[in-house]
Amino acid sequence: MSISQLARSIAESPTLKLNDEARLLREKGEPVINMGIGEPKNKTPISAVLSSVAHLTAGDVKYTPPDGTPSLKKAIIRYTEENYDKVVAPENIIVSAGAKQSLYNVLYTLINPQDEVIILAPYWVSYPEIVKMVYGHPVIITPEDGSFHPRMEDIERAVSSYTKAIIVNSPNNPSGIVFSQEFIAQIVEFCEQRHIYLIMDDIYHRLVFDGNCATPAYKFTKKDLESSMIIVVNGVSKLYGMTGFRIGWVVASRKLVEIMTNVQAQTTSCTSLVLQAAAEGALTGLQNVVESLRLTFENNRNVIIQELRSFNGIQVVKPGGAFYCLPDFRAYSDDSVELARFLLKKALVVTVPGKDFGIEGHLRLSFAGSIKDLTTAVERMKWALDPNSPNEIYIGDRKMIRDWL
Ligand code: PMP
Repeated sequence: MSISQLARSIAESPTLKLNDEARLLREKGEPVINMGIGEPKNKTPISAVLSSVAHLTAGDVKYTPPDGTPSLKKAIIRYTEENYDKVVAPENIIVSAGAKQSLYNVLYTLINPQDEVIILAPYWVSYPEIVKMVYGHPVIITPEDGSFHPRMEDIERAVSSYTKAIIVNSPNNPSGIVFSQEFIAQIVEFCEQRHIYLIMDDIYHRLVFDGNCATPAYKFTKKDLESSMIIVVNGVSKLYGMTGFRIGWVVASRKLVEIMTNVQAQTTSCTSLVLQAAAEGALTGLQNVVESLRLTFENNRNVIIQELRSFNGIQVVKPGGAFYCLPDFRAYSDDSVELARFLLKKALVVTVPGKDFGIEGHLRLSFAGSIKDLTTAVERMKWALDPNSPNEIYIGDRKMIRDWL
């Protein structure tokens, strides 16, 4: 049996793989703490449940238009007006099965073989793989100064005549960094001057701390949506904790949306009506769901940063949003894959190796879990790595003695 070289070259999703490993260990009764998972722990907002159930009880679940139901689009139009101060038309919107499929559709629609897409490290694991899946070339830019904040001069240097798009994700997965307003202004101007698409992955855009907010790219364009290079990707997974509903969307020019709609019509036909109805319920229901998640994550951020600052040798940049931090563990190991494996084996803590995000020597820790889990996980990591920490610990009801340092 011969398998496509391209398909074979696509990496397994490290985060989904780790979730699976954690699940298997938990099923065996092991007291695993999962700091790898990128999802809030809240219950689905009731408004989302009710509006999807209404379709199920009516027994009315059929195909929808490929680009999304008119009523969900209406809710997205209102969302865009309220959160971005931008008026868009239904023809500027396409709904897909999660922001991941939205990004895939965008890149499939933009990229010719050999086109380059600039990805800013540390980056979300799927960007380079999706670019490769559409025969493009990911061009990775890594900030040298350890700040995790991209610099315009590095981007300008990396741009070539093949550069088709730049992906910007702020608040950022995996660093939690919120990019400065100045940077957003500069990159919008740069992309418009150079005719490069600016793909804003805004999936965490309302989860920002310390009274700040994520700057929308639209703020700095004078162009209308039809001639703008800005493409905004969003969804309900993170803001409403609705990861399992698989609803994301793109706001872009009519031309682009029209072509993406053809692409989607030939692949998935449309996104499930039941799930679109749920997303509509979330967007039109009480918005304190988002604020309550944001407050929880801000509090969790404060706790985990305090815990990590007392971890010998660990350097951590304080996240300004999302629910991840990306501490530097090079004091203990340069090999993040080995380190993550070691921590899972010894401390039963799931972390994600920085290598998967283009930043070796770091581990991504999700702080979407409970405070108890966060503090216990850091305590276990300290026990496993730091010779100055007590060498006995309880993991679940087992007393463990460290005998490897
Ligand atoms: N972009 C980023 C930066 C993400 O972290 C994720 C989810 N981990 C996605 C997109 C995809 O989200 P969805 O669940 O809507 O596909």
